[in-house]
Amino acid sequence: MIDLHALVRENIKNLKPYLSARDEFQGQADIFLDANENALGSTIDASLNRYPDPRQRKLKNRIGKIKNIASGKIFLGNGSDEVIDLLIRAFCEPARDKIMIMPPTYGMYQVCADINNVEVLKVALTRDFKIDFKNVFDQIDEFLRLIFICSPNNPTGNLMDRSDIESILQKTKGLVVVDEAYIDFASQESLISNLSDYPNLIIMQTLSKAWGLASLRLGMAFADPFLSNVLTNIKPPYNVNGMTQKLVLQALQDTRRQKQMVQEIIDQREFLELELKCIPFVEKIHPSDANFLLVRFTDAPAIFRHLMSSGIIVRDRSKAFNCENCLRITVGTQQENFKLIDTLKTWK
Ligand SMILES: *Cc1c(COP(=O)(O)O)cnc(C)c1O
Repeated sequence: MIDLHALVRENIKNLKPYLSARDEFQGQADIFLDANENALGSTIDASLNRYPDPRQRKLKNRIGKIKNIASGKIFLGNGSDEVIDLLIRAFCEPARDKIMIMPPTYGMYQVCADINNVEVLKVALTRDFKIDFKNVFDQIDEFLRLIFICSPNNPTGNLMDRSDIESILQKTKGLVVVDEAYIDFASQESLISNLSDYPNLIIMQTLSKAWGLASLRLGMAFADPFLSNVLTNIKPPYNVNGMTQKLVLQALQDTRRQKQMVQEIIDQREFLELELKCIPFVEKIHPSDANFLLVRFTDAPAIFRHLMSSGIIVRDRSKAFNCENCLRITVGTQQENFKLIDTLKTWK
């Protein structure tokens, strides 16, 4: 059995969290003179003068309904990037504990660990971008607190095998963070339904991709209520701002439009795949369960510059581990994708 309590840093366990005015008062009142706000309003919309709900109750209820999960298991952050940072700060003692990442993968795990002076163990994905779980097992010890698994993975686009993730969950005494930023584009379900089987499982999702709300900054973590409570205790009190809470509640009502957009992006991804296959200097299109394609060219830097000179920016991932000559191309609108293909065809 995993002792979640034992995984929390000592200083965090002993922390007396900041209690905001809006945390302490939860009843009904007409006159709010408790938070030193500007009672007159603001220079624009009057409702902006009040601090937002620090516990984001309405938002969590709504997300809980959509994801079919109890709101006590939900933590919301100022983007997933804040969630990553809080996870490392809550569970990794600097200069002692470690996290594990599986390159090539999302860059923020390493950056957040570096900022917090937490060692990063790198266990590279295999050549076909699967988890090298034998190597993962070899590196597991009592100081390995967080294992980050990105699925579908950025920048490779593939899902990780569920059975590999589950065997790691069973083997480690630490926490396993599965970053599902792209899960809505994938051919497999989220691991959310496995949360009750694995108390050490933390799932991250975001509204930045499939919901089209990158500007609002809303990241989600789903985990055992004990874990989500630890994160709540250490977060900045008003980490999800009032406009974000309000607009997200509005946006989440239109699940039909969200599904339409996801389908259109998947269709466009398939179109791009077909077109790219016919281009002679495309060497490989990695199979994608996300909203982007990792494509290997004969000469990625030259193609990158060629696209750039036509005003098309893609992400050069050729320096990432096992991604020589690869560019990561986000699926755009139909028109943008036509333009991309046309521009590629004019190279040389
Ligand atoms: C885009 C992305 C995120 C999203 O981060 P936000 O801070 O929520 O915008 C998280 N993880 C991965 C792997 C991503 O590619």
